[in-house]
Amino acid sequence: MKPSDDPRSPAWVERVPANLEGISIVRLIFIFRAPGCTYARSPSGGCSMCGFAAMTLPPSKISKEDLIAQFDSVFDRPDALSGISEVDLYNSGSFLADEEMSPEVRSHVFARLGGSSVTRVLIESRPEFILKGTLREASAHLSPGVLEVGIGLESATDDVRERLIRKGFDLPAFERAVAVLAAVRARLVANVLLKPLGLDEAAAIDDALKTGRYVFETAKRLGLPARVALQPVFVPPGTPIEKEFLAGRYKPPSLWSVIGVVKGLHPLGGVSVGMSEEGLGPKRSPAGCGLCDDSLRHALKEYNRTKSLGVFDSLNCSCRLAKPGIF
Ligand code: SF4
Ligand SMILES: [Zn+2]
Repeated sequence: MKPSDDPRSPAWVERVPANLEGISIVRLIFIFRAPGCTYARSPSGGCSMCGFAAMTLPPSKISKEDLIAQFDSVFDRPDALSGISEVDLYNSGSFLADEEMSPEVRSHVFARLGGSSVTRVLIESRPEFILKGTLREASAHLSPGVLEVGIGLESATDDVRERLIRKGFDLPAFERAVAVLAAVRARLVANVLLKPLGLDEAAAIDDALKTGRYVFETAKRLGLPARVALQPVFVPPGTPIEKEFLAGRYKPPSLWSVIGVVKGLHPLGGVSVGMSEEGLGPKRSPAGCGLCDDSLRHALKEYNRTKSLGVFDSLNCSCRLAKPGIF
């Protein structure tokens, strides 16, 4: 993260190896320094594991001109998109919420990317902002199938999603939003959280598998191209999950559990794994026993790049069977 809080400078820009429809590609991750999630700023206080506020500025300190300047500071460079097939745009909240990213900013961004050779553009949004109207700018500039919208479903189990994660939306809201995505010929990426507060390792694995299956079944019913982004929990500062972690009552998931869920969901559709620990350190991140951490992390990164289960074949460690619920 850049230490600067300059409203004209993005929070993060990174090129990452990835896989798009079976082809190894490079994706560009661009994180706006933005006002961030309106839900997190509401009295509800946001989701229990969300540390995105660290990348935001108060709404009074950031204008739509600043957001456009952030985008242009990278995308105006002649080589900005050279070798890039996919652009992932994050704003620590909902890209489709007018209060967070105005329609003018969205129009500017989609017009620039629509005129490029990029074949995939990813944004994220809570379901309540996914409306035909808020997708107007994207539909005007991007060809069908280019836009992918990430929704933080996290869990298909109401109690887990609503009480443990405090997500603040129900499954009918999710299903209404994905029907809109199908209608405008966009794509879905559903974030699935692995090991929210309140679930032990085995229950967390079960819930992530169940949620992934639900996502693929729902998308299939609508004819909507979809993939699952598995998000193993990291422990960011200033969150409810950190409080439990510091009190010794919470531990991030084992990397073996992450691999187990990937193996379980792989046959059903596209899966990727969130591996950016954002400098939080090994204790606050999914881990093995210490001896196997590097090889497990490397294998998961290789899975993201190649989408081959073969990357897990040679992994082994004495810690693998020492924990209940681990594959
Ligand atoms: S996880 Fe998403 S919806 Fe929840 S508080 Fe964070 S940005 Fe908002
Ligand atoms: Zn180990």
